[in-house]
Amino acid sequence: MKTSQHNILIIGGGTAGITVAAQLLKKDKSLDIGIIEPSEKHYYQPAWTLVGAGTYDLQNTIREEKKVMPSGATWIKEHASEIDPEQQTVSTEEGRTYSYNYLIAAPGIQLDWDAIPGLKEGIGKNGLTSNYDPRYAEYTWELLQNFRVGNALFTQPATPIKCGGAPQKIMYLAEDYFEKQGVRQRANVIFATPGSVLFGMKNIAKTLNQIIRARNIHTRFFHNLIEIRPEKKEAVYEITQEDRLPISLGKQDQDLGIRPEGDSKVVIPYEMMHLAPPQSAPDFIKRSPLSVPDSPYGWVDVNKHTLQHNRYPNVFSLGDASSTPNAKTGAAVRKQAPILVENLLSVMQQQSNLMKNPQYHGYGSCPIVTRYGRMVLAEFDYDNQPDSSFPFDTTKERWSMWLLKKYFLPWFYWNRMLKGKG
Ligand SMILES: Cc1cc2nc3c(=O)[nH]c(=O)nc-3n(C[C@H](O)[C@H](O)[C@H](O)COP(=O)(O)OP(=O)(O)OC[C@H]3O[C@@H](n4cnc5c(N)ncnc54)[C@H](O)[C@@H]3O)c2cc1C
Repeated sequence: MKTSQHNILIIGGGTAGITVAAQLLKKDKSLDIGIIEPSEKHYYQPAWTLVGAGTYDLQNTIREEKKVMPSGATWIKEHASEIDPEQQTVSTEEGRTYSYNYLIAAPGIQLDWDAIPGLKEGIGKNGLTSNYDPRYAEYTWELLQNFRVGNALFTQPATPIKCGGAPQKIMYLAEDYFEKQGVRQRANVIFATPGSVLFGMKNIAKTLNQIIRARNIHTRFFHNLIEIRPEKKEAVYEITQEDRLPISLGKQDQDLGIRPEGDSKVVIPYEMMHLAPPQSAPDFIKRSPLSVPDSPYGWVDVNKHTLQHNRYPNVFSLGDASSTPNAKTGAAVRKQAPILVENLLSVMQQQSNLMKNPQYHGYGSCPIVTRYGRMVLAEFDYDNQPDSSFPFDTTKERWSMWLLKKYFLPWFYWNRMLKGKG
């Protein structure tokens, strides 16, 4: 049953969906745009790190969705569940079907809590937390305040994640907080990652390595989290560096209570653990014809410079759900949105050569808070080459960058970006 038709249909009224709708309507307020978005709340997710560190109020990261919906767009408060790009329709869990001439897929990323045994049951209690979900960000702060002694473990999964720096940011803030509270001597701060470096961009990695050394943070590379035992407060990692197998642990590992399990696994006990959960495209995208064929993550398959779908020219995607291989951040969305808007309008005017238009070169940015009052800002392109917006070196820790993160960027988000003005 078809209930309605929109010239442009957008799936997702998050950062990307609202920004792009607002920009389109600024260009032409007569455009007929429908936005499928089930949530009554809109979140400013980048501040959840600060919520977890007790320096930002969770309520200030939330606005009513109806307040951010651009006037002129039609809000469809439903869950998209099926996409048929041949018929040009999107069906919803609520049982309705919407047809479109042009589709923008922006449903964000899915948090796969059930991808690691023990995580779904354990999260939000007994020392296990994640700033990736507003239900637990305040619990992170509770854990920091109550921490007295033991391992404070910070970790991330092997899948792509949104804001790749967020698992480290809360660690630096926690370490700083422990120092201020006088419990640092009794805290072992550990960062375990499946990766081989702290950060892909060289200058930033250099700064972070200096911080890690100066502040005695233990790093564990090639550690892939495969299980959590929440009752025992243990995390199990598979070691992915073949030349380290079979595992033999040194004195420092033993001092941290780390023990081997079989030839290729280690168990790290924790007093508190913060993690980013595994992530992928939402399931309804994965199983749709729009997803990248044979990819386990199921991103919407678009050209990385034009954001146009590789097989359906009337479909576009941006933000965390798209296949563009940039750092998945709101900052990337800000650069992607005007490119998508220009390309979509070109397609609507029957222009097919989008390579003549400005292209997206993979800009992403990651504000890495390194202390209360200090931050480095990484800005880079598809090749991890610097793509700076500032006339000074933001790869060094700065107070001004902290002010940018805590005060300017949230203001900019609500007042400029979501209004299609920046
Ligand atoms: C802890 C944390 C820290 C971060 N820090 C930063 C940072 O410092 N800087 C930065 O730039 N970025 C940061 N980010 C990332 C940033 O928030 C995201 O990259 C950005 O929000 C992506 O926008 P999006 O529109 O693709 O996804 P979202 O903003 O998540 O929006 C997706 C929308 O789709 C909707 N949706 C989901 N399923 C359906 C469905 N079935 N049908 C219809 N709609 C659906 C959702 O309700 C949501 O509103 C951070 C994120 C987290 C979690």
